[in-house]
Amino acid sequence: LKSMLADPSLLETRAYVGGEFISTQNTFDVINPARGDVVAQVTDLTRADVAAAIASAETAQKEWATWTGKERSAVLRNWFNLIMENQEDLALILTAEMGKPLTESRGEIAYGASFLEYFAEEAKRIYGETIPGHQRDKRITVIKQPIGVAASITPWNFPNAMITRKAGPALAAGCAFVARPAELTPLSATALAVLAERAGLPSGVFSVVTTSDASETGKEFCENPTVRKITFTGSTAVGRILLQQAAGQVKKCSMELGGNAPFIVFDDADLDAAVEGAIMCKFRNNGQTCVCANRIYVQAGVYDAFAEKLKARVADMKVGDGFEDGTVFGPLINAKAMEKVKSHLTDATAKGGEIILGGNPSELGGTFFEPTIVTGATTDMAFSTEETFGPLAPLFKFEDEDEVIALANDTIFGLASYFYAKDLSRVYKVAEALEYGIVGVNTGLISTEVAPFGGIKQSGLGREGSHHGIEEFLEMKYICMSV
Ligand code: ADP
Repeated sequence: LKSMLADPSLLETRAYVGGEFISTQNTFDVINPARGDVVAQVTDLTRADVAAAIASAETAQKEWATWTGKERSAVLRNWFNLIMENQEDLALILTAEMGKPLTESRGEIAYGASFLEYFAEEAKRIYGETIPGHQRDKRITVIKQPIGVAASITPWNFPNAMITRKAGPALAAGCAFVARPAELTPLSATALAVLAERAGLPSGVFSVVTTSDASETGKEFCENPTVRKITFTGSTAVGRILLQQAAGQVKKCSMELGGNAPFIVFDDADLDAAVEGAIMCKFRNNGQTCVCANRIYVQAGVYDAFAEKLKARVADMKVGDGFEDGTVFGPLINAKAMEKVKSHLTDATAKGGEIILGGNPSELGGTFFEPTIVTGATTDMAFSTEETFGPLAPLFKFEDEDEVIALANDTIFGLASYFYAKDLSRVYKVAEALEYGIVGVNTGLISTEVAPFGGIKQSGLGREGSHHGIEEFLEMKYICMSV
C-alpha cells in the first residue's frame, strides 16, 4: 500500500494523542477484506492511554475555545484543503482497509471533507440571542459555548466521513475531539490526524485513539467526567449500551444508529428513474450503509416490470477487488457480514421468496457475494425487521398507499426512507406519513453536509450536518441581568 501512495507518510500506524504520534508495544492487525492480507499493524492503546488522551484534550480545549470563530475556521479550512489535495492517497488507504471500490472511496473523501468545509464556515456563525426582559429592570441574553471535550466512536463502513461529520462541528464549536475509529478501519483516521497536524490544529485538540477493545474505550468515554459529549455512529445495540453507560453522568449523547430503510415504488413512478435510485440506494457500498434500502416495496401494477428492469441492470455489474477498474461491488467487510446475508437469504427462500438474481457467494471466494434480488418478500422474513447490510434486495408487493405506509412504518427504526411517485398530493401525503428522519423523494441519495442527517425512534438521537449539526456540541447559557 505504501508504494501506491504519492505521500507515503499518510500511512500512519501510530495513535495520535496530545499532538504526538505514539506507539506502544501492542498492535492489532488491519486486514484488507478483498485479499485477506494484513495491510498494517496499528498501535493498540490501553484504557489508561485513552484516559491520557482525554486529559490532554481537556487542557487543549480551554485554549481552543478562546480562539475566535474566524481563527478556528481558518484551521478547519486548511484541513479541508489538505484532504482534497490528498484525496487520491486517502481513497487508496480507505479501499485497502475497507474494501469499497476506489471510485466510492474518492467520493467518501470528498463527502467527508465537505463537513470540514461547511463547519469551517459555521464556526463564525455561532449566534446567541437577546430576549426582551420579563421585568423592567431585566435584560436577557443567551450565549452558546462549546460543551467541552467530545469523544466519538465510529463504524468501519465510512472510515473517513463518519469522523469528519462529527469532528467538523465539534472543532468549529470550540470543543476538543477524541476519535476512536473502528478497529477494522483505523488507517483512514490516523491519516486524517497527519493532515490535521499539518493544517495547524493545536496539540491535543484532535486525537485519534486506536484501540482493539471498543468496549473498554466506550467505558472510559462514558465514565471519565472530562468527556462531556459522546457522539456515536453504529448499531442500535451498541447505542443502547453507550446510552446506559452515559446515563451514570448524564452525558449529552448523539446517536446515529441502525436503519431499516423502506424504498417504495408507486405505480405512477418513473420506473427507470426508480430502478437507478434503487441501485444507488440499495447497492452503494455493497449494501453496507445505514441508509441503504433494506425493504423495497413495489406497487402491484409495476411490480414485475420493476423486478425485470432491476435485474437487467444489476446483472451486468462487476463484483471484484475495489482497486480494479469497473468494480461496483467490493467484498463484504468480514465473515460475520457474509453470514448475515446468507441467513437472511436462507430464511427468505424457506418462507417462499424467489431468487431472481445472484443468491450465492461469488466465485471470487472470500467475502465476495453476488448481488442478489429476491421477489415475493413477505413481512415474516428476517429482513422485514433487521438490517441485512449486504447486497440483497428483497421486493415486496403492495396494493395501496395506506397499506404501504403502514408496512414502511412497522419497524423500531426511523432513519432513512425513499419513495418514487409523481402525483403531487401523494408525494406530500406519503412524505409526511413516513416516520423517518430522512425522506428521499424520487432520489436514492440523500447524504449531504448541508442537510440534517439523523433518525427518529430507535435509529438515534440528534442530527449531523447542516447548521443544526453544530448545536450538538454547544451548550446554551442564559444570562439574566438586572440593570
Ligand atoms: P457495526 O455492525 O457497524 O460494526 P457496531 O455498533 O457493532 O456496528 O460498531 C460500531 C462501532 O462501535 C465500532 O467502532 C465498534 O468497535 C464499536 N463498539 C462495539 N461494541 C462497543 C461497545 N460495547 N462499546 C463501545 N463501542 C463499541
